Amino acid sequence: MAHLQLENISLSFGALKVVDGLSLSLEKGTIGCLLGPSGCGKTTVLRSIAGFEPVRDGRIRLDGAVIADARTQLAPERRRVGMVFQDYALFPHLDVARNIGFGLRGRPPAEIAARVAELLATVGLEGHEHKFPHELSGGQQQRIALARALAPGPALLLLDEPFSNLDVELRERLSGEVREIIKAAGTTAILVTHDQHEAFAVADEIGIMNQGRIQQWDTPYNLYHRPQNRFVADFIGQGVFVNGTVLNRRQVRMELGVLESGDALSCGPACETCESGCDVDVLLRPDDVIHDDASPLRAEVLSKAFRGAEILYSLRLPSGTNVLSLVPSHHNHAIGEHIGIRLDVDHVVAFHKVGATGNTVSAAIPITAAR
Ligand code: ADP
Ligand code: MG
Repeated sequence: MAHLQLENISLSFGALKVVDGLSLSLEKGTIGCLLGPSGCGKTTVLRSIAGFEPVRDGRIRLDGAVIADARTQLAPERRRVGMVFQDYALFPHLDVARNIGFGLRGRPPAEIAARVAELLATVGLEGHEHKFPHELSGGQQQRIALARALAPGPALLLLDEPFSNLDVELRERLSGEVREIIKAAGTTAILVTHDQHEAFAVADEIGIMNQGRIQQWDTPYNLYHRPQNRFVADFIGQGVFVNGTVLNRRQVRMELGVLESGDALSCGPACETCESGCDVDVLLRPDDVIHDDASPLRAEVLSKAFRGAEILYSLRLPSGTNVLSLVPSHHNHAIGEHIGIRLDVDHVVAFHKVGATGNTVSAAIPITAAR
């Protein structure tokens, strides 16, 4: 059985249902992530696992035992769950050693001192025992908060936007370090964030959340390359949707040419008519659109963003449709110039147009195929 299981939990504040029938399971030692826009219910889910929000519908199991359901509410301190928050929440009047040792109170002093030293080594802050939180940088404080959460050897570690108070560079470095620390401790963990780069840097598996539901639970690779619906396709990575028409089970025609598909395109049982020309929106990522001087297909440079090794071009096709293209930065073209492009698409990701506007999220049926 999975180490952590949320079975169909719903969570409400008064009449407002913020989490609606959410399920997930995590194997021991895995780092999971709930990734979604602000207000989608991520923190509320974490608080229910920690024991701060009652679960009226559904069930939470940790390490084989039910810790929360309609009848059971195991007290937070008995759940063996450690938490790290956005704002570090270190005790300002306690030094580093006492902060880390906080959850170990009552144990023999020598044992506490040994465990504190061990954790300081784990988070790379040996020798900082007697400093106070205000003497540490933001990144150091967050590592101490992590050490404090890990000290009692929790069955589960919960991290709620732990890097959002740090500057971008530090955030990137620390997210990689935090992953290593959690993995070294062998702890099962759930990270909550609205930042996909953080999610990718830390987690093994990610659930994309919107409006209290998980839209897709998957690996980072699949979320990017095989999004199951429009919300996930939009939320993860960059890209644009371009008009296409399904010609047959293997081909989609677009303004940019005909995309060939190795796998048969399948719309599922809901669609009988693909072979007769369904209109679809095809997802094109910036790395699907290749700059090629030899290509007869030309597009006008509308704008460009220099990224060091690459330039992200926004391009206009003859029809007026815009696409993005990621190009090695020595191909430095001016705005207004027409440059050659071609497609190099591994996986065709397309969604049925629905209704006049073609952007009804819930009714979109994914068509995915590999070439
Ligand atoms: P996230 O962490 O994804 O930003 P939250 O779980 O904090 O989202 O909030 C989800 C929804 O629940 C939001 O609409 C928020 O306003 C609402 N909410 C959160 N906490 C409370 C509360 N204590 N009382 C009433 N509504 C709340
Ligand atoms: Mg939150």
